[in-house]
Amino acid sequence: MAIVDAERLAALVATVFERAGCDAEEARRIGHYLTEANLTGHDSHGVARVPRYVDWLKEGRVEAGKSVTAIVDTPAITVLDGHYGFGQTVGPQAVRIGIAKAKQNGLAAVALRKAGHLGRIGDFAEMAAAEGLVSIHFVNVVGSILVAPHGGVDRRLSTAPYCIGVPRPGEPPLLLDFATSLVAEGKVLVASMGGKPIPPDALISPDGTRSGDPAVLYGPYPAGPGTRDPMNGPGAIRAFGEHKGSGLAFMCEILGGALTGAGATGPDKRFCNGMMSIYIDPKVVDPDGFFPAECADYVAYYKSARPVEPGGEVLVPGEAELRSRSKKLKDGVPLSDGTWDAIAATAAALGIGDNVIKAALR
Ligand code: NAD
Repeated sequence: MAIVDAERLAALVATVFERAGCDAEEARRIGHYLTEANLTGHDSHGVARVPRYVDWLKEGRVEAGKSVTAIVDTPAITVLDGHYGFGQTVGPQAVRIGIAKAKQNGLAAVALRKAGHLGRIGDFAEMAAAEGLVSIHFVNVVGSILVAPHGGVDRRLSTAPYCIGVPRPGEPPLLLDFATSLVAEGKVLVASMGGKPIPPDALISPDGTRSGDPAVLYGPYPAGPGTRDPMNGPGAIRAFGEHKGSGLAFMCEILGGALTGAGATGPDKRFCNGMMSIYIDPKVVDPDGFFPAECADYVAYYKSARPVEPGGEVLVPGEAELRSRSKKLKDGVPLSDGTWDAIAATAAALGIGDNVIKAALR
């Protein structure tokens, strides 16, 4: 296990992407967002992605230095093309447009197509919440067919994340943010590198057997650093929540994919994220100011449910991430040896010195 300092880890990742061909500002954003995913407990969307992002940049699957352009621009609706630019660049650009329009009109919808991997969607809901806005995000992952629908064994869905953020005056937002697969693909990736194991029923083999073995998704893979291609395995990740989760995933494909123009996932499609976002100004919906106090009362009521386990606790959406962030800022960010070795190998291959790489370690 390697323990790294969050700020120095973000700086190392930024150096990697500058060496790989991004400008300094884009490289800094990639470092910031990937590290933020680790801080919030979503290692699946954190720095474990560095080797894969560098490969994608080399292969032209994601492009440096791109910006969104508007295809439709009405006061309420914006449709944006992300031109396969880094999600850490085109994602925040799309969110800033949604924030500006919702502040003007009370309500805005932004459809983003052809975004490079957007990473942790919760970052975008947090951006909107910081401006006092509720936001809802339906996302799909075009060209990534990883998840079997309820009742099926064949892959037909992406891990299609869904996210809702709700601002609270003077407090961190309520934040629901998850993949509609039983686990995010990155959690299988982290497990394959010696990190936290996935649940034993998270994957499904072609014969319908449930499994927690990453090889069901990746096929045989080398121990330690090395590429894992989720398109190589014989099986699939299962959708969460039986028919209900599978149905939500289906709608993420329809809204995040088909409606945005990114396309629903399917074979022979170029990898990208599609994101349909809706922004609501609660001050316009609620001129009497009922919402903040009602939220606070309901949070307290919800959390007052007696825990299942003695000493347990009921958490509201977003609370787990907050706790993770404050712990890791204090104690450092733990990375499995496999994840750290893979980052160090990627950095070294780009000519970054050992002293610079090791400077991220606590
Ligand atoms: P997860 O299973 O950890 O669920 C996270 C959600 O559950 C959060 O809202 C969290 O506050 C809540 N939560 C966690 N523990 C809780 C508890 N004990 N009680 C109550 N609520 C609790 O998340 P995931 O499905 O592994 O997704 C991880 C990340 O992956 C997300 O940030 C998601 O946006 C991202 N993702 C991105 C893509 C993409 O293509 N860009 C695809 C899939 C997932």
